[in-house]
Amino acid sequence: MPTTSPPSRTTVFTIANQKGGVGKTTTAVNLAAALAAQEIPTLLIDLDPQANATSALGLEKTEGRSLYGPLRGEGEAAEMLTPTAIDGLTIIPSEEDLAAAEIEIAQSENYLSLLSRVLAPIRASGDYRAILIDCPPALGMLSMNSLCAADSLLITLQCEYMALEGLGQILRNVERLKTANINPDLQLGGIVMTMFDARTNLSRQVVEEVKAHLPDKIFKTLIPRSVRLSEAPSFGQTIFDYDPQSAGSLAYRALGEEVITRFGLR
Ligand code: ADP
Ligand code: MG
Repeated sequence: MPTTSPPSRTTVFTIANQKGGVGKTTTAVNLAAALAAQEIPTLLIDLDPQANATSALGLEKTEGRSLYGPLRGEGEAAEMLTPTAIDGLTIIPSEEDLAAAEIEIAQSENYLSLLSRVLAPIRASGDYRAILIDCPPALGMLSMNSLCAADSLLITLQCEYMALEGLGQILRNVERLKTANINPDLQLGGIVMTMFDARTNLSRQVVEEVKAHLPDKIFKTLIPRSVRLSEAPSFGQTIFDYDPQSAGSLAYRALGEEVITRFGLR
């Protein structure tokens, strides 16, 4: 083997947590945009049939454009690559039909590695330095497939009561996939604390608790609770376009820098 041949230059991140409303989609969309702004060629894959990431980027009427076909053996994932209004950011959108994939995947052979195989050509193309997968709020077939396709798992935790509930379950799934040799290289890449409110003791306590358990995994950047972040998707905009000076914008830019450094994306 020539020592000059580089390993795959594409890092696949899955953003998962079986709880809904914990900031997965907000983080997927704005982190993807933050990476693209730093000239990291980025692909966002919307794997949630609710298609919130798709609409947050202002895409509408994307019927027939999702991984649903490719996952059932019809067409190539590369055909679904869709440009966004943001330089350097491409998306594979989602659509309602993807919900059916939960059931169909379960009935197929090698049901855990379908997504990994569907994405292999895009990965091999080297066109993207980072691929971010936005998962549905359940540890179903789609999320499990994303864990099998990823190099790194990013978990978003809301700074609220019971934030850590469910964390054990997802981490046990990661261990299972590793020990069963299905995705032996999968890493817990980091924990993103979302909806942080510096005024409440509870927010600070939750952060301290996660720091105590996973000191080298928690990102320093805390994503603040901010109305601007929750408003941006209804305008089909990332926080950087909707309100570039807002606290949420600064936070996601800082998170982008942390991710670039931690994973050597430059
Ligand atoms: P998930 O994808 O985990 O279900 P979302 O990212 O969709 O979570 O967030 C759930 C809701 O909370 C959405 O309405 C979103 O706009 C809002 N939200 C997400 N992050 C923040 C934040 N930091 N501050 C305020 N609202 C937020
Ligand atoms: Mg979501």
